[in-house]
Amino acid sequence: MQVVNHLLRDDAGTAPGPANSPNHGSVLSQPTLLVMHFTAGRSFESSVSWLSDPAAKASAHLVIGRDGRIAQLVPFNRVAWHAGQSSWMGRNGCNSFSIGIELDNAGELQRQGGEWRAWFGAVIPAAEVMEAEHKHGGGVTGWHCYTEPQIEAAMKAGLAILGAYSSIADIVGHEDIAPHRKRDPGPAFPMASFKARLLGRGGGDTAPAFRTTSALNVRSGPGLNFAPVAGSPLPTGTAVDVDAENGVWRHVRATLADGNTLVGWAHGGYLTS
Ligand SMILES: [Zn+2]
Repeated sequence: MQVVNHLLRDDAGTAPGPANSPNHGSVLSQPTLLVMHFTAGRSFESSVSWLSDPAAKASAHLVIGRDGRIAQLVPFNRVAWHAGQSSWMGRNGCNSFSIGIELDNAGELQRQGGEWRAWFGAVIPAAEVMEAEHKHGGGVTGWHCYTEPQIEAAMKAGLAILGAYSSIADIVGHEDIAPHRKRDPGPAFPMASFKARLLGRGGGDTAPAFRTTSALNVRSGPGLNFAPVAGSPLPTGTAVDVDAENGVWRHVRATLADGNTLVGWAHGGYLTS
């Protein structure tokens, strides 16, 4: 993937366009920030359609589907309307200096009669739900998990964008630039490893060091269906090395209090760098 004339191109050279949302401002030059969002929408198609509708008065540069599909709605050299009232490092109005990526995801979920439901009523299968407290608080609740192809597509698109716009120095969530009103992309998004991979922190062969943000089950495989390994759960704040990833799952290694080494898979949403 690469950026040509401010449009993303896939490896076959095809632009995922149509890059014709009317919801954009004037020239975006020297973007310094990449902002990640969830759509809290029903589907990739519905989000692309809504963010291209003048009534929405909102947009993003890219929307990424759960199957890894990408739509570009606004060229990268135009201001997209994704951040709203926001500020970062003392600068207000982040739209004017950022590129925004929306990920198709139902967002924060509500427990109803033993099921997790999106705000629009759909039941989200338990296998696609992560229970966690948002870093801004509010108690433990359900969050729609991102998919492996979606995170991979976001990583590739992000690398292409950072390759084209060297002025981008940081990656944040909408929740970081509008903390009083936004909770996306939420705890299910693997921000620590996403940033580490895109910004090259801990690069080369050195495994980035992470810490657990809650008591964390480490499993024999990358999924909730795999059993926790001996020594699991790791206590909050345990240092772990990450040497591989599979979607939102991270292959971790940690030294236990008894000196033994624990190796297995943990959900990246519970790790911070
Ligand atoms: Zn957002």
